[in-house]
Amino acid sequence: MRKVAVIGAGQMGSGIAQTVAQHGIQIMLSDIDLAVAEKAKDGIEKSLGKLVGRGKIEIADAESALSRITPIGENAPMAEADLIIEAATEQEHIKKAIFEAAGKVLRDDAIMASNTSSIPITRMANFAPDPARFIGLHFFNPVPVMGLIEVIPGLATAQNTTDQITAFAESLGKEVVLSQDEPGFVVNRILLPMINEAIFVLGQSTANIEDIDKGCRLGLNHPMGPLQLADFVGLDTCFEIIKVLYDTTGDSKYRPAPLLVKYVEAGWLGRKTGRGFYDYSGEAPVPTR
Ligand code: NAD
Repeated sequence: MRKVAVIGAGQMGSGIAQTVAQHGIQIMLSDIDLAVAEKAKDGIEKSLGKLVGRGKIEIADAESALSRITPIGENAPMAEADLIIEAATEQEHIKKAIFEAAGKVLRDDAIMASNTSSIPITRMANFAPDPARFIGLHFFNPVPVMGLIEVIPGLATAQNTTDQITAFAESLGKEVVLSQDEPGFVVNRILLPMINEAIFVLGQSTANIEDIDKGCRLGLNHPMGPLQLADFVGLDTCFEIIKVLYDTTGDSKYRPAPLLVKYVEAGWLGRKTGRGFYDYSGEAPVPTR
C-alpha cells in the first residue's frame, strides 16, 4: 500500500491515520468537511508531539509522518488510494452513504475496508462497488498504542483481499486475529457484554462507579475498569455495538442496560464529550455517581 484514504477523523480515524503515516504511507484524511479533517490533523500533531516529548520517536520522524497526512474535503483525490479505510460514526446509514460515494472513485484494484466494531461486513459489502474487495479491518483504541487488529472477511470477500489486508495490518507492526463475520467479531463479542453488565450493576446500585472499576482492576487484573473503558470507547459506540449484538442475535442477554441508553440520550458520551461515567473537566477523571 502506498496511499491510504481514511474517512472519519474522530478518535479512531485520527489514530489510524497517524499510525499508517508513521509507517511511511501517504494518507488522505476526510470527515464531514475539510475543516474537521484539518482539526483532526492538528490533534495528530499534538499526539506525535507527546511521543517526541516522551522520547518514543525522533522529531524528524514525527515531522515526516505529519507531512504525509493530507486533509481533504472531497472524495475525488481518493481515486489515487490503494485502500480506503472507513472509520466514521457507528451507524449503518452513515457508512452506507460513505461507501456509495467513495465507491464512485475507487480504483478497480483498490480495497475498501471498514473499521466498524460490530456492523456485519457481508451486509455492508453490498454498499461497495465490488464486495470481493470489501473487508473488515478493526483497529483498537488508542491505535498507535494497541497491538491488535482484527481482520474480518465477509462472505464475498476474495482471499486475495484478505491476504493483502492481513499483510498491510502486519506491516503496521500489529498482531492480526482473523475473525469470521459474526456479530461483534471476537473481542467486542466478549468485551461489550461485560461493559453492559457493569452498567447494569451500576444501575442497580450494587456498587458505585469507583468500586465497580476497582473490583475489575484488582480482582480481575484488568488494566482499566469496565466503566472507565466504556468512557474511553465512547458510550454512543458502546450502545451501537450492544444494539447490533442484540438485534442480530435476538438474544436477550445483549439487551442494552437502561442506564447506558440514558447516558447516550443525555449526550454524556465519555471522554470525547468531557463527561461519561467520569467527569473529565479537571486534571484527573472524577466518578460522577
Ligand atoms: P468518533 O465519534 O470519535 O468519530 C467519528 C467521526 O466520524 C467523527 O469525526 C464524525 O464527524 C465522522 N463522521 C460522521 N459522519 C461522517 C460522514 N458522513 N463522512 C465522514 N465522516 C463522518 O468515533 P470513533 O470512536 O472514532 O469510532 C469510529 C468508528 O470506529 C466506529 O465505526 C466505531 O465503532 C469504530 N471503532 C471504535 C473504537 C473505539 O474504541 N472508539 C474501536 C474500534 C473501532
